[in-house]
Amino acid sequence: MIKQILVKSVLNKHRRRDDWFLDDYSVNPYLGCSFNCIYCYIRGSRYGRNMAKTLSVKVNAPEVLERQLSRRTKRGEYGIIALSTSTEPYMPVEEKLKATRKVLEKILKYGFPVEVLTKSNLVLRDLDILKEIDRKAVLPADLKPKLKHGAIISFSISTLDEKLAKTLEPGAPKPLERLETMRKCKEEGLFAGVCFIPVLPYLSDSEEQLDEAIKTAKEFGADFVFVGGLTLFGEGPADCKTLYYRFLEKHYPELLPKYRRLYG
Ligand code: SF4
Repeated sequence: MIKQILVKSVLNKHRRRDDWFLDDYSVNPYLGCSFNCIYCYIRGSRYGRNMAKTLSVKVNAPEVLERQLSRRTKRGEYGIIALSTSTEPYMPVEEKLKATRKVLEKILKYGFPVEVLTKSNLVLRDLDILKEIDRKAVLPADLKPKLKHGAIISFSISTLDEKLAKTLEPGAPKPLERLETMRKCKEEGLFAGVCFIPVLPYLSDSEEQLDEAIKTAKEFGADFVFVGGLTLFGEGPADCKTLYYRFLEKHYPELLPKYRRLYG
């Protein structure tokens, strides 16, 4: 059974706005992530090798967020909230728990813009709230001339190769499903695109693969495409570098020397 935890704070204010995603805040309704991507940067001893086993839901996140957003609203401190930066907001447990949906309800109530970062088709359940946020959110004054949307939905993909994705992102829906979900979001009038992050050196980052990825995203109607590299760190048994190197040893041993030159 998923662990329930209480938190004192759930709205994280960044020191400065994210240059790429334009978010000033982030909210993570869960601690850990059952999608268990091998390359995930949140990995480490805190969550263990199988992050599905240590997954927790922040049960009081909606009440805490309400207090925090109410204070920010009074001071006019509007900014895009990234949902989420260190968990997947639409894991299978969300279907029943609705922790992300309750967070979205508070975001709507207080008029904040949101950027949903997901790999999951469960986001479709919440398009009703996201459409309202899109119409009603108050954008920070400096973003108003550039951005016409209060809701942004970004689908994260590291490779279009289904077999490779299954090995690297064992708990996540297939890349094609994510693209189809993005197309549905677009059909519902939402602003949506693809983050090819992280692309994987020698596996999904050749010029031809990137051209193909961007072409595919366009065919599925993406409003934007981001491409970002892979970060690997940590020498502990549950760290992403250790797990990724183990994956290379098993499936692509010939790439190990090249990765060692890149990541040590
Ligand atoms: S979906 Fe995101 S948060 Fe979850 S394991 Fe994968 S990279 Fe990490």
